[in-house]
Amino acid sequence: MRRLNRICHYYGVELQFICCSATIANPLELAEKLTGMPMELIDNDGSPKGTKHFILWNPPYIDEEKSYRRSPTTEAQYLMAKLIERHIQTITFTRARVIAELIYRYVRDLLKEKAPELVDSIRAYRGGYLPAERREIEKLLFSGQLLGVTSTTALELGIDVGALDACLIVGFPGTIASLWQQSGRAGRKSEDSLTVFIAYNDPVEQYLMRHPEYLFGQSPENAVIDPGNVYVLAEHLRCAAHELPLSEEDADIFGELTLPLLDVLCEHGDLTQIGDKWYWASTAYPASESDLRVISNDTYTIMDISRGNLVLGSVDAVNGFAMVYPEAIYMHEAETYLVRDLDLEQKIAYVEPIDADYYTQPWFEETIFITEQKKAKEWNGSQVYLGEVRVTRKTVGFVRMRFYTMENLGSERLDLPEQNLETIALWVIPPEELLDRLKYEKSGKPYEGLEGVKNVLASVLPHYAMADRQSIRGKVQQLDNEQIAIFLYDAYPGGLGFANKGYELLEKIIEHAQKIISECECADGCPSCVRQTDAMMWGGIDPDKESAAFILEEMIVM
Ligand SMILES: [Zn+2]
Repeated sequence: MRRLNRICHYYGVELQFICCSATIANPLELAEKLTGMPMELIDNDGSPKGTKHFILWNPPYIDEEKSYRRSPTTEAQYLMAKLIERHIQTITFTRARVIAELIYRYVRDLLKEKAPELVDSIRAYRGGYLPAERREIEKLLFSGQLLGVTSTTALELGIDVGALDACLIVGFPGTIASLWQQSGRAGRKSEDSLTVFIAYNDPVEQYLMRHPEYLFGQSPENAVIDPGNVYVLAEHLRCAAHELPLSEEDADIFGELTLPLLDVLCEHGDLTQIGDKWYWASTAYPASESDLRVISNDTYTIMDISRGNLVLGSVDAVNGFAMVYPEAIYMHEAETYLVRDLDLEQKIAYVEPIDADYYTQPWFEETIFITEQKKAKEWNGSQVYLGEVRVTRKTVGFVRMRFYTMENLGSERLDLPEQNLETIALWVIPPEELLDRLKYEKSGKPYEGLEGVKNVLASVLPHYAMADRQSIRGKVQQLDNEQIAIFLYDAYPGGLGFANKGYELLEKIIEHAQKIISECECADGCPSCVRQTDAMMWGGIDPDKESAAFILEEMIVM
């Protein structure tokens, strides 16, 4: 928007912006930040609406003592198949690409038995599909030719597929705003619609099942944008220079980082400075290289060797070695492909169709290096920091899991290069004295306790920072001075402001985490309190609930 404004201004046109949002708490503030212009808020909605049925669906216990519940994907696949059988147009949202593919596959299997004529009336949809394939699915949905789609949040925003009858939300999408956005996909004009929110057995979601008033009573969260993210800004400056030569005055539009970044772009050969102006100096078309949703421009192309290296799709490197690595099973529209070879130079994953009855999940190893400490504060004796970090993550192996039964079919080691992520983290160092008391007076386990605290914090923070669960990761790590710190970091290059929010709101987040652990009725930790993790870590520590509860309580009262 800043770029559009700049071009229009140059040609003597002043634009008027009309911004619409159904689901955030701070529309005025966000719109002003996005456009850099004063705005007026209109916030009453007089459009006709049918009744919206909203169901909170908590999968039943398999083992009540251990607090194990049936998988939300199992619930989703039965619900979706039932709805499709009744010709009710349904969209199923999942948080992960693999889950969208899995549910798609399972629903097709169910339909083959019950209503074989409807098998081809559903599709899967996610980022990483080719644009043409995505446009085709959107069109079929819009025209009503498709009865159902399983999708990641790729379909949540900005894409018009018309209104459907029912929406299944598999797992809390991280924010109340996203939840309403997804739910808003169901409901045509004045007709009734159905939304079913199916919970995972994780801390925040079980909390929401116990406290539905939190969903319905609260106003949605504040949207966070960080127009100063260096990576995003650099991409915009490249595009802006291509549109019109840049000058020093443009720092008023793009902020204080503009001039230093222009130097970097000159060094890189993208721009040249002539007089007091900066010109685009490359033959490439910068806008086609930047994707506003995915900041990392490190992308792997996926090619099918059985069909003359036909391009199937792509995956960005933040997800790269999580989805494609040698011998991984890559899923695309319910087909399973085996990754035969990974060309690290050309960034190509060569795959081949294979009739596999399993899928694969990677194991990671991870180290965090603090590159620059930016802020520090003390809270009840705990040290809290915010700063720049480098996270090196390595995919060190994978495990094969059988479809449906999730039976472990064995794991293998891998030797892949590490991937670096320069990002923003917050880290908390609880008082040493507290951990000593835990160890010597309570015979507790400090490391295992901190691991549990980290897991709960990493699932609570997205809620406060308006991020999805995958955008924030955590790690417990010993520092050079032997103190043990809990790190929470943004899973995007340059950070998107989530850790900053966590630093600001730490007190609230820790209190919320403490409430989750103390309310959980399990005996010794379950996925809805301390056992929730975003990824499998090689040699990971088994979290201890009692120690985690002690640490959080003491941190609050100290
Ligand atoms: Zn529990």
